[in-house]
Amino acid sequence: MSKISERLLVQAHLAAKQPKPLSIAQENELRLAIKAELKAQDAVLLAHYYTDPVIQALAEETGGCVADSLEMARFGNQHSASTVVVAGVRFMGETAKILNPEKRVLMPTLDATCSLDIGCAASEFTAFCDQHPERTVVVYANTSAAVKARADWVVTSGCALEIVEHLMDNGEPILWAPDRHLGRYIQKQTGADMLLWEGSCIVHEEFKSSQLFDLKALYPEAAILVHPESPESVIALADMVGSTSQMIKAAQTLPNSAFIVATDKGIFYKMQQLCPDKVFIEAPTAGNGAACRSCAHCPWMAMNTLERTLSCLQHGTDEVFVDSSLIPRAVKPLKRMLDFTQAARLKHLGNA
Ligand code: SF4
Repeated sequence: MSKISERLLVQAHLAAKQPKPLSIAQENELRLAIKAELKAQDAVLLAHYYTDPVIQALAEETGGCVADSLEMARFGNQHSASTVVVAGVRFMGETAKILNPEKRVLMPTLDATCSLDIGCAASEFTAFCDQHPERTVVVYANTSAAVKARADWVVTSGCALEIVEHLMDNGEPILWAPDRHLGRYIQKQTGADMLLWEGSCIVHEEFKSSQLFDLKALYPEAAILVHPESPESVIALADMVGSTSQMIKAAQTLPNSAFIVATDKGIFYKMQQLCPDKVFIEAPTAGNGAACRSCAHCPWMAMNTLERTLSCLQHGTDEVFVDSSLIPRAVKPLKRMLDFTQAARLKHLGNA
């Protein structure tokens, strides 16, 4: 997708789909109604770290989970609820459905998509893979079910490095899609032979290294935490690079009292909750005007509102369906990732 059409798409979402502010009374009423519906419908709410804090708090209060996409997939897979409500973006709902085809998967809105998913159409991606049959196909979780169905492995930013190292040890050349910044970062870290698709995240791509450098001068004691979907020049200034969960862990474990954070600002809810005495500062983007496409908040994650969460539960709308012919092929690379990370986790516990 060209930069111009991508920008128009984002602006259309920003103009038409963003939530209206609610009064405290309205918010409380909606929260109570959602809690009642979750219970009545044997449903569990999974919320991504980038969603509105009010949605994250509700997931926690109702026994659901607030997590990155890997943990959301794992949690939804293991939970006994017959309905899973995924507050995040569409590929997360699809992942939940692929892993649990027998469950009903709802989303506050199916319109919540992702620039990485949009920028990696299955037909073009399949043609790209067909041109390089000798390569092991590794795709980021931020892709459609059809793209996953063409992959050998699915990865998230939390496990991509280890999985690529594993493939490199096996001598496998890699075809990587869709995020070029994350791909380049992993390539640099591992030295793996990787052919990269040229996708990007509109949120992380907006972080600016020169302004970050200036901000660091104002807060010399602050550690810089950067998500690897950010540009190389921003990563170069980082004290720590990692997935959302790894960034939260770093906020908890590093001795610094302040952090400059280069990822979606929805993550501040969890960071502040776990580290109430620490200060978190947004990494700079191009600014709040027309020059900035995201201003450190994903326009699609912002579509997950209380009203839409209640509506999908009450009316059964925005249910996620995945073409049944894709599920057997898409589930294989997903399960491979879950098995690999589970084995790595057990090994780590064994070594601890
Ligand atoms: S933050 Fe970026 S990668 Fe995440 S859902 Fe939004 S556009 Fe996609």
